[in-house]
Amino acid sequence: MRVGMLDLAAEYALQAEEIKAAALGILESGMYVLGAPVEQLEKSLAAYVGSEHALGLASGTDALILSQKAMGVGPGDEVITGSFGYFASASTTAHCGGRPVFVDVDPVTFNLEPEAVEAAITPKTKAIVAAHMFGLSADMDAINEIARAKGVKVIEDAAQAIGAEYKGRKVCSIGDAGIVSFYPTKNLGAAGDGGMVFSDDKELIDEVRVLRFHGERIRYFHDTLGTNSRLDAIQAAVLNVKFKLLDDKNNRRREIAQRYNEELKDVVGVPVEPEGYHHVYHAYTIHVPERDKFREYMIDKGVGCAIYYPLPLHKQEAFGYLGYTNGTLPVSEKLAEEVISIPVCPTLTDEQVEYVIETVKGYFA
Ligand SMILES: *Cc1c(COP(=O)(O)O)cnc(C)c1O
Repeated sequence: MRVGMLDLAAEYALQAEEIKAAALGILESGMYVLGAPVEQLEKSLAAYVGSEHALGLASGTDALILSQKAMGVGPGDEVITGSFGYFASASTTAHCGGRPVFVDVDPVTFNLEPEAVEAAITPKTKAIVAAHMFGLSADMDAINEIARAKGVKVIEDAAQAIGAEYKGRKVCSIGDAGIVSFYPTKNLGAAGDGGMVFSDDKELIDEVRVLRFHGERIRYFHDTLGTNSRLDAIQAAVLNVKFKLLDDKNNRRREIAQRYNEELKDVVGVPVEPEGYHHVYHAYTIHVPERDKFREYMIDKGVGCAIYYPLPLHKQEAFGYLGYTNGTLPVSEKLAEEVISIPVCPTLTDEQVEYVIETVKGYFA
């Protein structure tokens, strides 16, 4: 048996006719950028996450850049984020001219350690980027409380976590702004790139709206340096169809994760879902000693694996200029050495799930 990390063609097949018709409709309409399908997506996703406003952009990366720009992040400003995470959560601060500040994460949830965030705040801190790692919300009450006390903004990076909940609220409605990515592999994936920013703050959203269209407030008059970051109508049309299955697919991910938890909890370090949290398992990430040996074995048995992420952000060459040294963020450094993600995509069959379980158990037997 073979079990891949994901099977996007199988996911497409679930809604093939409807997606084809939606995409064809756009091709025939002659309206290719923004427009009604994008507005429809913005409306339905804003209602879904429980945020007042949403804006479609070209990628999750752009959503991070433009939301930070709209919050005024620029030269001299610091933005705090976890070192164990995806590059864009931090590189986007640098693209705004700001300085990423890395803190350690919780070894069990992989999310920001609130005490570490508090300790890292300086008079220069402008914002905190809280990534909801692998589909589990960060501890938003603690982070918001620290941020409010210090007058700092919070951006939820929910690129991996659309549909996740924290104390009954969906992520992207809890911080000052939230972002998602529609990269094809994400829980709500397009047939190409896309992203969205959410906020209850109309001024912030209006600023992002101006920035996504070259800083135009009046056509061909530019009072600020924006960029081109618009969501394509064809992507929005595909996403409007795929959104209908988002909850079903997230629930299937949860079902698979629960099966793994039951069977693997005594064998490897399994992910947790603390009380009051609703995990959407973008990845099912386990802790394994001698991870690379385990990975070879799994691949040999036909089970796909991935390492998210093999190098913490403070040790990335691109961030060398920030001057972090080895050993400064020990949890992030350790996680990068011992985590591995096994398949949890919603199209897995029960037989495939059982095969993954047997294979993992076989390694440790
Ligand atoms: C994927 C991802 C992004 C970037 O989204 P893109 O749409 O690929 O630009 C940002 N942050 C996290 C945590 C991600 O996983």
